Amino acid sequence: MLKLRNTLTRALEEFKPLQDNIVRMYACGPTVYDYGHIGNFRTFVSVDVLRRYLKYLGYQLQHVMNITDVEDKIIRGMLASGKSLEEYTEYYTGEFLNDSDALNIERPEVMPFATKHLPQMIDLMERLAAAGHTYQSDGSLYFSISSFEGYGRLSGLKLEGNVAGARVDVDEYEKADARDFVLWKASKEEGEPRWSSPFGEGRPGWHLECSAMSMKYLGESFDIHCGGVDLIFPHHENEIAQSEGATGKPFVRFWVHTEFLLVEGEKMSKKKGNYYTVRQLIEQGHSPMAIRYLLLSVPYRTQLNFMLDGLKGAQTALDGLRNFRRRVREFGGTAGSHSRMQELVTRALADFEAGMNDDLNTSKALAAVFEFRRDANSAMDAREFGAEDKDAVLGLLAKIDSVLGVLGEEEQSIFEPEIEARIEERNAARRNRDFKRADEIRNELASDGIILEDTPQGTKWKRK
Ligand SMILES: [Zn+2]
Repeated sequence: MLKLRNTLTRALEEFKPLQDNIVRMYACGPTVYDYGHIGNFRTFVSVDVLRRYLKYLGYQLQHVMNITDVEDKIIRGMLASGKSLEEYTEYYTGEFLNDSDALNIERPEVMPFATKHLPQMIDLMERLAAAGHTYQSDGSLYFSISSFEGYGRLSGLKLEGNVAGARVDVDEYEKADARDFVLWKASKEEGEPRWSSPFGEGRPGWHLECSAMSMKYLGESFDIHCGGVDLIFPHHENEIAQSEGATGKPFVRFWVHTEFLLVEGEKMSKKKGNYYTVRQLIEQGHSPMAIRYLLLSVPYRTQLNFMLDGLKGAQTALDGLRNFRRRVREFGGTAGSHSRMQELVTRALADFEAGMNDDLNTSKALAAVFEFRRDANSAMDAREFGAEDKDAVLGLLAKIDSVLGVLGEEEQSIFEPEIEARIEERNAARRNRDFKRADEIRNELASDGIILEDTPQGTKWKRK
């Protein structure tokens, strides 16, 4: 039985979906104004592991991840770039998906864009206004947090000292600034994206979209809501207030939050020079699967200290597992099976599941895999390993990798001459300054598991 630590109740609870065998799950997606950094992707990888494990357990998934394509930082970036909102966000959305694919993150069933859901947001504001949770000021619409009794329950915030009527207009703020937050911002600056609404011309505050879109695709009450710990306040606190304030029903049963990632022991920042995007690491020659492995090797509720040395260790661990799989595949054992090997397979699977069932304790689950490898290697050394054992072990590895998603297929579908030909085609496109085509070829190769690196000596390639 899967147990998850629920931020809302602060307890480890048995997970069961509200309805039938379907898990309705929402995860806050990227704000598309820049390339995703590894802190962002730690959360996305952990959500992917949860998603894959739920499928492993036999659940059907209805998983929604929004794309935030209008927000303070986006508007600043868009205005500075001189591009339209659509052009600007389309580019970063594409790059986000490329990075996600490289990290073998499965696509959620639905990926809604905020700007495509204005009617749902307006409808939600109207319901909140009718229920007495809002007021207008300077053309903007605010949520009055003192009108919602449960405000602060998720983050453990005490509302004492909150000044009635004190407001905050920005999309992100600290706990100390708990104030009435903006649902709809009146248009002020020239060139800002704007929509008309019953509350005047403006644009939605950031928090509104997640309530409107999650309820549209998952219903007014659903099973799991994920995100990074930095979203607990104010974002998720505000989502609860907006949703429950309108429906009067419990919004989400399980709140699942991924801890921060540190880099070399420090908070990641561009200033400190310890800020890494996924693409930078890949360009530096690290394999995406090693990045994924490192990100998921530490349980999601524990801070992860990301170190470049750790990436080397992750690569070694992965190579070791792949070599083990190859040895098993190529092992020329006799027919039949050995009861000891069959027991080891059964135990490894049970231990792996015990680790995962314990709030997705991936380090426990991985330990079970490595212990199994040691025992199976000894069995092969002693030639107590038959043809049926081989099938059982390969089946076990495939099952485990359906959750971890790090081993990949051994058989490569694309061969060297084809890769070289594609690189030559890309170089020709670049010489013709057809960068769009060049990027397409790069992305096509990436989806075949081939990573390109442009160096002064020419383009090099390697397999993921
Ligand atoms: Zn959200």
